[in-house]
Amino acid sequence: MALSITQACIGCFACKEVCPKNAVTVAEQGFMIVEHRCDECRSNTNGPQCGQICPVETAITDNQGRALNPPGSLSGIPQKSHVIAMTK
Ligand code: SF4
Ligand code: SF4
Repeated sequence: MALSITQACIGCFACKEVCPKNAVTVAEQGFMIVEHRCDECRSNTNGPQCGQICPVETAITDNQGRALNPPGSLSGIPQKSHVIAMTK
């Protein structure tokens, strides 16, 4: 199963521009990744190019629903749970 684009996507087109498989498409319901085209950038040592360039946390998820850019990963703002863990 390929990666997915979530409701957090702001439609900036960046992932569409960099995808080497032309797997990102714009549908009526928003940006989508065409499953049979996406190979998750397996041959790229930097990993999924869409995830590398996407400026929005949680906008792209893997096949387990895990965000390629989780909350806090781009903003540098620690999530509440991490702050709580660090202060205990
Ligand atoms: S993982 Fe690679 S092939 Fe798949 S949508 Fe992202 S950039 Fe395209
Ligand atoms: S790079 Fe991220 S925010 Fe931009 S269109 Fe792709 S998924 Fe949406």
